[in-house]
Amino acid sequence: MILTTDARLALLASIVDSSDDAIISKDLNGIITTWNKSAERLFGYTSEEVIGQPITILIPPDRLQEEPEILQRLRKGERVDHFETVRRRKDGTLLDISLTISPVRDGNGTIVGASKIARNITESKKMVAELQRSNAILEEFAYSASHDLQEPLRTVKIYSELLRRRHADHLDPDGLIVLDHLCGGAKRMETLLNDLLAYTRVTRFEKPSERIDANLAYESALQNLGGSISDSNAKVTANSLPSVRMHFAHLQQLFQNLIGNAIKYRNPETAPIVIIKASRDAAVWHFSVEDNGIGIAPEFTRIIFGLFKRLHRAEEYSGSGLGLAICQRIVEQYGGRIWVESKPHQGSTFRFTIPD
Ligand code: ADP
Repeated sequence: MILTTDARLALLASIVDSSDDAIISKDLNGIITTWNKSAERLFGYTSEEVIGQPITILIPPDRLQEEPEILQRLRKGERVDHFETVRRRKDGTLLDISLTISPVRDGNGTIVGASKIARNITESKKMVAELQRSNAILEEFAYSASHDLQEPLRTVKIYSELLRRRHADHLDPDGLIVLDHLCGGAKRMETLLNDLLAYTRVTRFEKPSERIDANLAYESALQNLGGSISDSNAKVTANSLPSVRMHFAHLQQLFQNLIGNAIKYRNPETAPIVIIKASRDAAVWHFSVEDNGIGIAPEFTRIIFGLFKRLHRAEEYSGSGLGLAICQRIVEQYGGRIWVESKPHQGSTFRFTIPD
């Protein structure tokens, strides 16, 4: 169906009016020339009241300097995209809005004004602030809880060790089993609290401007894993790794958790083989840690990155279920992603990206 110019204009006008966003146009002197229904709802002025008025009636006094800057950019033909700012309603209340402003040209291509799309983001800003606040409270709580619980735990550990050293001879077999459970429980609790503290310590940070040598972070992780590497006869290798803009401790922790898991979740029949690789794709580094271990069923490959999520009982494999959650938190703070590709009994490849 081909529309006449008038029909096309009427259709466009009704689309503009039915938009949820306020759509406003103004000339290059900042005088309002059109005003849709959503603008009426959002700012409280009818089109009769505002057309012909300066756009500054919507701008709170402390933000008036924004308008000349916007007009200057428009005169140069530039767009302003998703500019988050505050505007004022007719009743004086303030609104958080996101503005997209584009130059409008006449038939000769001369810039004659601008169209503005204003989206109300007051609610979403409130929700983000509320989420940040409750996250901060939760982090604070997890930090204090894991920190403060270490003291009584230390007492349990010291006294159960003392009991074993001084009184084991006087305990019957049942008593010795109880003591073993006590020591095992305290050890598990210690791992859990240490990992929880490590998790809460990965809070927001600045991305460093200096690069670190990933080979050194890898070597340092290997040193910390020395015991389990020699106990399991693991063969761990890496190709030449790049220099990346990360904190050394973060990359070391990533390698340590992923290589540590590759060894821990090994196939009981074969010595672990772990291969670490890095490659660059555009502005992103891709790291992978591949193993020949027990693998993971497809339905679990996502949930294992959750807090305290484990696929095995403590008697089968030790751990807190926080290692991968820590990895995910680190990688996401750098704007990267982490995931696993795996099949049961066929090994796993954990991959993570770090934008350069
Ligand atoms: P933890 O090792 O303390 O249980 P993680 O968060 O490091 O906690 O890992 C979560 C779960 O993911 C593990 O319990 C295990 O079931 C699974 N997993 C992690 N790495 C591997 C791996 N390389 N091979 C097989 N399963 C793994």
